[in-house]
Amino acid sequence: MTISQATQTIDQLSSEVLDRFKTGFAGPIFSINDTDYDSERQLWNKMIDKSPGLIARCTGVHDVIQAVNFAKHNGLVTSVRGAGHNVAGNAMNDGGLAIDLSHMRAVLVNPKSKTAIVQGGATWADIDRETQTFGLVCAGGVVSDTGVGGLTLGGGLSWIRRKVGMSIDNLIGADMVLADGSYVHASQSENTDLFWAVRGGGGNFGIVTSFEFQLHDLGPEVMFVACMYPREVGAKVMKWWVECTRTLPDEVTSDCIHWAVPVFPGFPEEMQGKPVTVLAAMYSGSAEEGQKVLQPFREVADPLLDLSNIYPYAGVQQMFDPFLAKGELYSYWKSLYMDDLSDSLQELIIDRANQSPAPQSLISIRNLQGAIGRVPSEATAFGERGARFLVSIDTMWVDAERNNDNIQWTRDFFKELHQHSNGQVYFNFNSDMSGSDDLAKDSFGPNYEKLIEVKTKFDPENFFRLNANIRPKG
Ligand SMILES: Cc1cc2nc3c(=O)[nH]c(=O)nc-3n(C[C@H](O)[C@H](O)[C@H](O)COP(=O)(O)OP(=O)(O)OC[C@H]3O[C@@H](n4cnc5c(N)ncnc54)[C@H](O)[C@@H]3O)c2cc1C
Repeated sequence: MTISQATQTIDQLSSEVLDRFKTGFAGPIFSINDTDYDSERQLWNKMIDKSPGLIARCTGVHDVIQAVNFAKHNGLVTSVRGAGHNVAGNAMNDGGLAIDLSHMRAVLVNPKSKTAIVQGGATWADIDRETQTFGLVCAGGVVSDTGVGGLTLGGGLSWIRRKVGMSIDNLIGADMVLADGSYVHASQSENTDLFWAVRGGGGNFGIVTSFEFQLHDLGPEVMFVACMYPREVGAKVMKWWVECTRTLPDEVTSDCIHWAVPVFPGFPEEMQGKPVTVLAAMYSGSAEEGQKVLQPFREVADPLLDLSNIYPYAGVQQMFDPFLAKGELYSYWKSLYMDDLSDSLQELIIDRANQSPAPQSLISIRNLQGAIGRVPSEATAFGERGARFLVSIDTMWVDAERNNDNIQWTRDFFKELHQHSNGQVYFNFNSDMSGSDDLAKDSFGPNYEKLIEVKTKFDPENFFRLNANIRPKG
């Protein structure tokens, strides 16, 4: 065996080797015979059913270093888990070691400098709670139990993205454990190539034990639009929205989502399951100003349901949580950037939305640009800065017997969309991750070659490979 293979499984190790690791590791370690093993390996996507030989739940940097050294020296298949939301299920593996950060969730806000230091396994709910205490926000995800780790390393699209950019655009520094077990800091002044690469290059370069973010003033209340129009007027609503995004101020971040009224208590029974086109938007400024600016979003046609209101910012961040709860839905997602949405493309999207095989599915179209587009594409590893839209096909269903139908439907739809796009994808919304060089090329675009250089420098043996993998040279 050579160490670089990283293909060994835990059951190939002697009990002495295992005992040594367990003795030096502070957190709990779960193996298949433990009662909690199944709940520990459960990820957000119900479709993922991977069984690591060991799940090592880290308590801090010490444990992360121990776990990396143990895995490295024994050539183990290794995965890294933040909050476990990645749809491809990269946080777990079969037979190897899962390095679990999900209990490293501390968030330390400095209200004076408006910055926060956040441990690598925190969720956006952890950040929102701590930052809103000081009237501050961090550019993060829109479902509160999503992990800060995976989301940030892939880019990070929030409700304030057009005002302040992506999560990576607000990253000041990262503390990391590298593949050789060393502990380094990456920032604009230290390990600058590594800092460039982690801003969009995913989990390829090491384990981030803590992130430092720039925060912004916002809240406690914000204006949020959630206007559900009947699908019969979906084409009109989408066309209006596509045009309107040409002139919106950066304070407005908005999505057009083809969905169905959730079958959930609180929604009128006669409306549950009805196909809708939702305009969702948040104003990053005073709630009163937001009410005025966003009013037209509520008047495109007669809504079926209009849930728009002034809400606490932290409440907006949790609004979609109940419909996207961990372990509830089988999921298969794909996404593509679009420079524009022509009339014919809009027709295609509506048509496919009407044929969607599962009402839980979302076809989400996010408006980008604003602050995202003002960062030069070579300034960070993130590949695509120019597109106006990100179209994401988030297919979700409740019955395992429908797995094949739903996956095929998503792939067919993606293929059709692909012809109209520049081919670049957001790998954070992508179910097909492993073993494809194309995914890395399609994710990183013009930055791919430089990423290979940085990967070769910091992880020459491709120890961190269960991700949107960038293969090192040689
Ligand atoms: C319901 C839902 C809502 C979402 N909403 C958004 C959204 O609003 N905006 C958006 O941009 N994306 C969103 N996403 C996508 C999200 O960015 C990815 O799923 C991301 O991978 C989640 O991060 P995680 O830490 O929970 O993932 P995990 O599954 O825990 O980890 C995924 C991978 O990320 C890497 N990783 C995670 N943490 C670390 C770390 N600390 N150090 C090094 N590597 C690490 C590892 O390679 C790991 O395999 C959403 C996903 C879901 C399921």
